Amino acid sequence: MTASPSLSHPEIRDSVARLCAGFPGEYWRALDRDRTYPTEFVTALTQAGYLSVLIPEEYGGSGLGLSAATAVLEEIHRSGCNGGAAHAQMYTMGTILRHGTPDQKARYLPAIASGELRLQAFGVTEPTSGTDTTRLRTFARREGDKYIVNGQKIWISRAEHSDLMVLLCRTTAREDAAKPSDGMSVLLVDMRTAVGNGLTIRPIRTMLNHATTELFFDNLEVPVENLIGAEGKGFKYILDGMNAERILIASECIGDGRFFIERAAAYARDREVFGRPIGQNQGIQFPIARAHVQLAAASLMVDKAAAMFDDGQPCGTEANMSKMLASEASWYAADMCVQTHGGFGFAEEYDIERKFRETRLYQVAPISTNLILSHVATHVLDLPKSF
Ligand SMILES: Cc1cc2nc3c(=O)[nH]c(=O)nc-3n(C[C@H](O)[C@H](O)[C@H](O)COP(=O)(O)OP(=O)(O)OC[C@H]3O[C@@H](n4cnc5c(N)ncnc54)[C@H](O)[C@@H]3O)c2cc1C
Repeated sequence: MTASPSLSHPEIRDSVARLCAGFPGEYWRALDRDRTYPTEFVTALTQAGYLSVLIPEEYGGSGLGLSAATAVLEEIHRSGCNGGAAHAQMYTMGTILRHGTPDQKARYLPAIASGELRLQAFGVTEPTSGTDTTRLRTFARREGDKYIVNGQKIWISRAEHSDLMVLLCRTTAREDAAKPSDGMSVLLVDMRTAVGNGLTIRPIRTMLNHATTELFFDNLEVPVENLIGAEGKGFKYILDGMNAERILIASECIGDGRFFIERAAAYARDREVFGRPIGQNQGIQFPIARAHVQLAAASLMVDKAAAMFDDGQPCGTEANMSKMLASEASWYAADMCVQTHGGFGFAEEYDIERKFRETRLYQVAPISTNLILSHVATHVLDLPKSF
């Protein structure tokens, strides 16, 4: 499959599409059945340099902007593959890049760029706090040159496939902090030494193959030198990284949407019922056309958000809006694609049902639609905050 030349970064899209052609539906179906990690696919992406596009050249990356990264992820998803196994390797390093010391940057970024170190676990969500991050309870108590970490995280993806994890925890109790968002800190946890020494990882089986886990911290020791930025300011550092994450996830939705629309249109042209192609019926044509219209609009918002990010402009609202529009457009396209395929939409070998399950996630994670609407209502429309 060749990429459309009218889209941005056509060369990147073309070469990503060629790489993805080596990982067809059979590959993903087998992994999906057993809920196993796409190691060969992630290795191929790493070796081709796609996971280090956002790392500056001085640290061994290609120093491209977020717009190039969206082209990579969109094309992966358009090809029927899934970037969820590796996308965090692209952007989680941003916390070190923006807030790390020169020594931390020199120590970690070149190894992350080469793929020698995998930093693709990001530990924020907890079972009791949910979206209300200021209520997280995992606590790092300082003892000399170490932090002692106790607590629990949930939905921490790729923890078993990561050498390092960016962990958000409290270093001051909420009630003792000047404001609820103060008193949280970011620690870089070395998973290679932590597992079995205070960190236990328990996989969670979910409706899609996402390598997500629960983490239990029981007196895990983390050296103080692994603190990123200033103690107590971690919440802000995590927020800084969320815009990039939301825009990149939105681009995965756009890729999924293109996959569904291309598959549906091809099937509707080909499948004959009542002596004519089903795509000749407007009842079939219009939902496909509607999916295209919605996706095209969402894609423009993703491009706008990425351009603002690359320009260094504040883009929290645009990042949120692009994620919401793209996740709703991909979900509409997914539902339409199943309907267009009739019974075959449910057959594993068509890959539609797998992608349908995969694309549903994006209305919940990394941030749910209601929280985006709440942001727009209160930050853009000046409506009173409800919580
Ligand atoms: C497969 C998967 C992978 C994930 N990977 C990671 C990861 O790697 N790292 C990580 O830290 N987290 C991860 N997450 C967690 C994810 O970010 C959260 O699930 C998501 O942000 C929603 O939080 P929650 O599940 O706690 O929902 P809750 O906060 O419990 O909310 C439940 C529902 O209530 C709604 N709601 C809550 N409060 C309000 C309100 N005030 N007004 C209106 N509606 C409200 C929400 O919109 C949501 O629909 C992952 C989740 C999944 C499912």
